[in-house]
Amino acid sequence: MGAALTALLAGPASAQAVPKKVQQLHQKLLTLDSHMDTPASLDLPGWSIEEEHDVHLDYTQVDLPRMKKGGLDGGFWAIYTSQGPLTVEGFHKARDFAILRGVSIRQMVAADPANFALALEAKDAAPIAAAGKRVVYMSIENAYPLGEDVSLLQTFTIWACGWWALPISRTTSLPTVRPTRRKSRVMAGLVRWARNCSRR
Ligand SMILES: [Zn+2]
Repeated sequence: MGAALTALLAGPASAQAVPKKVQQLHQKLLTLDSHMDTPASLDLPGWSIEEEHDVHLDYTQVDLPRMKKGGLDGGFWAIYTSQGPLTVEGFHKARDFAILRGVSIRQMVAADPANFALALEAKDAAPIAAAGKRVVYMSIENAYPLGEDVSLLQTFTIWACGWWALPISRTTSLPTVRPTRRKSRVMAGLVRWARNCSRR
């Protein structure tokens, strides 16, 4: 474990050995990360996306200076909500958490329009990157914030969350699915929920 972690943390240093030709090609390409957990960093006390941080010190991997250095044009900034109890109170807390995390992403873009731009559709990414800005697609990771209110699917979509990872593991929720070991009941909940979504 210790050796593996050391090797992992040594990654950025070895990346400097990438041939120049490959680096140039990488810089030319539109490079998007499909799963950025960086929004969690935005709410860390005293942490700024504008400053360069060190993965060895705070475990964060992405900030504006490192995106520029590494040639990362942007990606899908995840609103990840940890799973909690499947209760009305739990659903409301998750909903509020996700909305506030989304506000943090929006604030990041609004605070530095010279470097960040919100992308709403697939065609938005290339022009944003060509303008030298970082592409910000908002995404949802885990359906927990939706609770049992399917209408929130549309609310978050209107709010620019265009990419969803609803069930991310067998322990995370989908509405109407109750904690149970009975597979058939879980599947029934999934089907019912999917049907409700497709009606919207
Ligand atoms: Zn994630």
